[in-house]
Amino acid sequence: MIQIRNLIHDYLRRDEEGNVEGSHRAIDHVNLDVHPGEFIAILGHNGSGKSTLAKHINALLYPTEGTVVVDGMNTADEQNLWKIRQEAGMVFQNPDNQIIGQVVEEDVGFGPENMGVPTEEIWERVNESLRIVEIEHLRKKSPNRLSGGQKQRVSIAGVIAMHPKCIILDEPTAMLDPSGRKEVIRAARALNKVEDITIILITHYMEEAIYADRVFVMDEGRIAMQGTPREVFSDVDRMKELRLDVPQVTLLADELRRKGLDLPAGILTADELADALGLKEETDVRKQA
Ligand code: ADP
Ligand code: MG
Repeated sequence: MIQIRNLIHDYLRRDEEGNVEGSHRAIDHVNLDVHPGEFIAILGHNGSGKSTLAKHINALLYPTEGTVVVDGMNTADEQNLWKIRQEAGMVFQNPDNQIIGQVVEEDVGFGPENMGVPTEEIWERVNESLRIVEIEHLRKKSPNRLSGGQKQRVSIAGVIAMHPKCIILDEPTAMLDPSGRKEVIRAARALNKVEDITIILITHYMEEAIYADRVFVMDEGRIAMQGTPREVFSDVDRMKELRLDVPQVTLLADELRRKGLDLPAGILTADELADALGLKEETDVRKQA
């Protein structure tokens, strides 16, 4: 679905007259392949290059060096831009900047309308998109009156209505409360599992990355770690070096193991921890974890 080869991105710094006075390397020799139907999580502290990478996949930026190919289309070829942006939809952090319609259903239909999809099919797509993210009951509402989680699901529905093969979500939960975060992650997982859409989730909430098929950790524009969530999170020390946490349960299990308990590395959920501790029934430990 996506092939990134030796990608470099330099942001140019200009003086008041517009002359280039320096540059900053935000992406530094990144190689990354994403297969159709995968759920990928990208982690990394602020400024590590995650958003810059996301913008390359969506052809919003042009490589300084290297290539990005999305579904066989090179992002450097201008003829492909429209098709790439339709196939690789993007959801950003702030839902308020993405919603333009006065009514939910109108907002969701905006993308396909812009693409020239016939009216009857637009409504089919709107219905389908609202159903997938479970907001059919909100279709006549004004987006302004919705919660953050609902608004973000409207943005996702708007992207789905364009029938993308891949959706890149750049910290879609950063501005949401815990229940809004759950709504959005649930929607992203359904898109992947039920609709078979390739998902690239950029997040700084480690708990959201445990559902991914593969996790990439960025640091100073490079890919510093990659593997399954279990592989990546079991290296608690390396994650700390990269100024990242691991999921709370993983951290607790790691501390218990360091204290001498016989536990496997990379425990990701409270249920796994309870099982490893031999606590089969619902217990206080499980509830607390
Ligand atoms: P992240 O999303 O991981 O926080 P970004 O991709 O936004 O990281 O930024 C990577 C680096 O590039 C940072 O050092 C940031 O300051 C710099 N950067 C991002 N956008 C621009 C820009 N438009 N112009 C100049 N530098 C930028
Ligand atoms: Mg960012």
